[in-house]
Amino acid sequence: FNVPAPVNEPVKAYAPGSPERKELQAMLSELRSKQIDVPMYIGSEEVRTGKTRPMSPPHDHQHILGHFHEGDASHVEQAINAALGAKEAWENLEWEQRAAIFLKAADLIAGPYRAKINAATMLGQSKNAMQAEIDSACEFIDFLRFNVKYMTEIYAQQPPVSGAGVWNRVEQRPLEGFVFALTPFNFTAIAGNLPTSAAMMGNTIVWKPAYTQIYSAQVLMEVFKEAGVPDGVINLIYVDGPTAGDIIFKHPDFAGIHFTGSTGVFQHVWKTIGENIKRYKSYPRIVGETGGKDFVLAHKSADAKAVAVGLVRGAFEYQGQKCSAASRAYIPSNLWEDVKKYMLADLADIKMGGTEDFTNFVNAVIDEKSFDKIAKYIDNAKATPGVEIIAGGNYDKSKGYFIEPTVILTQDPLYITMCEEIFGPVLTIYVYHEEHFETVLELVDQTSPYALTGAVFSQDRYAIELATQKLRNAAGNFYINDKPTGAVVGQQPFGGARASGTNDKAGSMINLLRWVSPRTIKETF
Ligand code: GLU
Repeated sequence: FNVPAPVNEPVKAYAPGSPERKELQAMLSELRSKQIDVPMYIGSEEVRTGKTRPMSPPHDHQHILGHFHEGDASHVEQAINAALGAKEAWENLEWEQRAAIFLKAADLIAGPYRAKINAATMLGQSKNAMQAEIDSACEFIDFLRFNVKYMTEIYAQQPPVSGAGVWNRVEQRPLEGFVFALTPFNFTAIAGNLPTSAAMMGNTIVWKPAYTQIYSAQVLMEVFKEAGVPDGVINLIYVDGPTAGDIIFKHPDFAGIHFTGSTGVFQHVWKTIGENIKRYKSYPRIVGETGGKDFVLAHKSADAKAVAVGLVRGAFEYQGQKCSAASRAYIPSNLWEDVKKYMLADLADIKMGGTEDFTNFVNAVIDEKSFDKIAKYIDNAKATPGVEIIAGGNYDKSKGYFIEPTVILTQDPLYITMCEEIFGPVLTIYVYHEEHFETVLELVDQTSPYALTGAVFSQDRYAIELATQKLRNAAGNFYINDKPTGAVVGQQPFGGARASGTNDKAGSMINLLRWVSPRTIKETF
């Protein structure tokens, strides 16, 4: 096979007056002005239960974008049956045909659906145009195209050695049963990648998105249908977690879960699977990416301005709601005044508001539950002696769930916001004595129950080497002189270990290999 290497989808700038900006603005107005009715998609059916729930922009929670139909246990059963029913035809389809369908989906998003998927992500998940573009357009397109490339490499692997009279071969079978994709709100690309990567390898899927992502999930489903994903291959259901879990994890045909979400839910899922292990035909694949408490560590030799930019972008893009977001920083005393000056200057320029106004850098957090949780951490900082809020600190949920980008300064490296995942626009900074870099390396490692991303800033090669070695297990994605967010498919395979997940690197061959179960065949003549 000689498949050309895919290139990353170029990111559109949406500059004022550009045709793409006009198209996106028109789409935003169109979507805002109507209310849609969103069914579940099970087999060939669009299922409307009549039990509807509203969908609203997090930055304008009284505005209704539409309603989705919520299902119950019976719909989980139906989705499993539809997935099992579609399986034989799907897995027997030549893999090139499956690849073609997903390449077509990538082209549909790159072209005719780009404005719609971006607008849906902007309205439904409160992402600004740039954050929507790098997620729901570029990253998802990249996932599809790069995964097809990895898929071709898996199916084209060299067969094992065969002697005279013997032919040995290895068949990459899909898993036996159905795969459950449980997807998060914070990346439309991840919501799309979790079902499609497993489906590509011949599996059929029950897909349950976060309720807060359904508005863009239904656009993805529209794309999958138009690209030719057959009925029953990807079944999209809106059912609450415990109801879905109770049926799925007890089902004998449960073959695996592809998950991104909270550490708590993932650990609960793992335990439930363990408790039910005797029910299944095979040991299920458990592939998950969960939380992080991602660090930025500057060495005394670092460029203060680069550190400040890394902190502002790493901590506050998409309101800090990336698993990879910078949320704790260790800054040496010699750099602190400069880092602070540059950071506060950048923050002073940042505007907060709805996504329809393209000049807003910060938008709303996803829902009231998140808002209340984040506000509690800010209140705690306000009330704790020795802890100071040096930027932001205000919040208001009257119109949307708005929280100012907030920077906390603490003298205690174990202060609660240095340790717990907040998943919001809150960055905590600890200033260390500039000569104590090695002690701080130990500290960062020892206070990392998570290990998703981390960044070190330094102009000193020795310090970079030392940090790279000492923090070997503290981050699955380790950045040198850059912010810890924004991994690009095909360039920085993404995932972490420790409490952050199984580190099966989204958008990589490692990940796709989890969705097949090889069979070795020996034939003697
Ligand atoms: N891949 C994203 C990044 O590098 C983060 C994914 C996540 O939040 O789950 O920023």
